[in-house]
Amino acid sequence: MRAGLVLEQVDKSFAGAKAVERLSLEVHPGEVVALTGPSGAGKTTTCRLVAGLEYADAGNISVAGRDVTRLPPQQRDVSLMFESFALYPMMNVADNIAFALRAPTRAGRTDAAAIARCIDEVLALTEMSDLRERMPHELSGGQKQRVALCRALALEPAVYLMDEPISHLDAKLRHKLRAALRRRLVAAPAPTLWCTPDSMEALSVADRVAVLVDGRLQQFDRPEAIYTRPANTQVARLVGDPGMNLLPGTLVRDDGALRFRHKEMTVDLSDETRTRLDASGSSGNVVLGVRATDMEIAEPGAADAHRVEVYSYEPFGKYAILTAKLGGDMIKAKIFDATHVDIGDVLSIRLHGRNAVVFDAATAKAI
Ligand code: ATP
Repeated sequence: MRAGLVLEQVDKSFAGAKAVERLSLEVHPGEVVALTGPSGAGKTTTCRLVAGLEYADAGNISVAGRDVTRLPPQQRDVSLMFESFALYPMMNVADNIAFALRAPTRAGRTDAAAIARCIDEVLALTEMSDLRERMPHELSGGQKQRVALCRALALEPAVYLMDEPISHLDAKLRHKLRAALRRRLVAAPAPTLWCTPDSMEALSVADRVAVLVDGRLQQFDRPEAIYTRPANTQVARLVGDPGMNLLPGTLVRDDGALRFRHKEMTVDLSDETRTRLDASGSSGNVVLGVRATDMEIAEPGAADAHRVEVYSYEPFGKYAILTAKLGGDMIKAKIFDATHVDIGDVLSIRLHGRNAVVFDAATAKAI
């Protein structure tokens, strides 16, 4: 049996509706795998199945080489941090964390000095050191979430399960904690399954990312691969901020070269993409995936640019997100120059095909 966390062909339905379908995943010891997907994708159900709070209808789950599929939660040795955290209302912050460490099932972790050191460390990591004496009712939602996180981190389980562990924190603290948590989790011997609907959080914290939609695994790969080579249009749309632009069109041969033709424009594809498409023998209807960062505002009338009408313009400081109508399609471009743009303006947009991904229009799969 393999070390780490292994799910094999796991199925779970609720009242006949599949929440998780034939899910196979492996998280190695010391590895962080992020499970991402939209609301209702099955992320929490997967965590609960591993924790033993739900039982799989079919398939197997093993933790550290032990088949836990039918074991009750207390025999699984998992540390689960819930999205809806529950603290003990009569205990202060430090005692809430210590309680988990003193539990009889955690034999061997009862040394008072070791417990105190561990509490100091996790409180410092989550920037909660000055709140150690507070009672739960004296804490904000984000602070309560950090106590729950401390409780989960303080344990030395066979697997860490983090269900949206930093979702209630403000953006600055979330970014800071992402890095701090990742450092700690990869240094631990146990595997971590980290669930989040935020695809950027998934890419930033994980060694590998699993994308789940409607209970089915769409892609399981390194963050760079998920971002640059999404396996299908669903992953392309979900991953990134914003997700990939998806433009319907056809592949055409022009002067011996292969190009993408949209009703409003033609896009040159990279040599690598051309080679891949040539090898696959693909032709006909496709969908072109283009990242918002591969578009730029061009000088008016530029021959290699296309007219678009501005739908919205959102300035974020060092860049802006421009949403515009290109024929019947809506596109999103990430603009890095400081040009101010108004709704309804007509602009020229240049679209680069260098990083584009071509999807089969019929199957939605990357070619
Ligand atoms: P979110 O990001 O919104 O938390 P999720 O990806 O964690 O979503 P799950 O909570 O795992 O999704 O839910 C997966 C599917 O299973 C959903 O369609 C949900 O409605 C359903 N589901 C989950 N738990 C139950 C339950 N106890 N009874 C019935 N249906 C359930």
